[in-house]
Amino acid sequence: MTPGSIDAVRSVVAGGAGFLGSHICDLLIARGDSVVCVDNLSTGSFDNVAHLESGAGFAFIHADICDGFAIDGVIDTVYNMASPASPKDYLRMPIATLDVGSTGTRNCIDLALRTDATLLMASTSEVYGEPLVHPQPESYWGNVNPIGVRSVYDEAKRFSEAMVSAFARERGLNARLARIFNTYGPRMGADDGRVVSNFVVQALRHEPLTLYGDGSQTRSFCYVDDLVGGLVVLADSTLEGPTNIGNPNEITIRELAQTVIEVTGSTSSLAFESLPSDDPSRRRPDITRAKTELGWSPTCGLVDGIKRTAAYFEGLTTAA
Ligand code: NAD
Ligand code: UDP
Repeated sequence: MTPGSIDAVRSVVAGGAGFLGSHICDLLIARGDSVVCVDNLSTGSFDNVAHLESGAGFAFIHADICDGFAIDGVIDTVYNMASPASPKDYLRMPIATLDVGSTGTRNCIDLALRTDATLLMASTSEVYGEPLVHPQPESYWGNVNPIGVRSVYDEAKRFSEAMVSAFARERGLNARLARIFNTYGPRMGADDGRVVSNFVVQALRHEPLTLYGDGSQTRSFCYVDDLVGGLVVLADSTLEGPTNIGNPNEITIRELAQTVIEVTGSTSSLAFESLPSDDPSRRRPDITRAKTELGWSPTCGLVDGIKRTAAYFEGLTTAA
């Protein structure tokens, strides 16, 4: 596929056919921007953006961002969302994950510098690793195993942050760093292995929900509309340095399982499986910076978000 006839490009969304990227494309198109979505479809799907193709202002390029960009015209913002993000995906594609976090990010930086665009880098709460500070403020440097299996993702994102920061200091790159915490909602892959998609799909099928370890580990789940709204507000701001974007409502994975079972009215039981190595035991964002500097905070509660997510997965089943 080649880019459509867009004269004035506003935003490039690398990884735009993925879960979060496709919602960014939706939000930008809805507010009247033009979008060029670049994706190699390694973990995303064209189905996530197919509805945008017939409308004005949207173009899709099937490409690997590690190969560089050939995009003409004015670019306002480059969103770098491209990377395997689910542990299941990055453990299956370790080298590709390191490549996209290094070469891919470098190519996004070069595109932004060449076109005088702002770069929004999608980093992650995984830069905090197994956190020794709780909740995690941006000032915390993290506790990451640099050679463990998860390091291909954690260190790739830490390297992306280092490279974006160096180019901001030395070459005047206009950059925003978003440290995204666990996000869920429609367009997660049904088989992407993440906990919310696994639990909702298992609950809808009345199969046992797979809890890794004893389910006492915590996460703080943000609904996708909230998250993407925060990313776009951040991209439009002048805020330098890393900013946590997520929902500080922390729960155990066992509580999440119970909530999913209740919301879906499922008869599922719980099945305990072994805990993957280096799986963080707790995670909760300190979002003081996003609140005070951007005026942003999430509004969608877990029950409401799980209802919407379950409706999406139910729709997929009915459509199939
Ligand atoms: P996703 O896997 O659904 O989307 C990633 C997209 O990037 C996919 O469409 C994939 O095909 C594309 N991609 C991967 N490598 C590419 C490459 N080399 N060239 C072009 N496209 C490539 O994941 P997501 O959940 O939407 O995550 C998006 C971004 O947000 C990722 O960078 C991820 O690290 C970050 N993030 C997500 C979460 C979350 O909870 N969803 C949390 C923290 C950080
Ligand atoms: N998890 C689980 N059952 C699953 C999938 C994941 O108990 O079927 C756990 C996983 O071990 C982790 C948490 O849920 O402690 C969140 O996992 P996910 O892969 O969604 O995100 P991440 O580990 O990257 O935060």
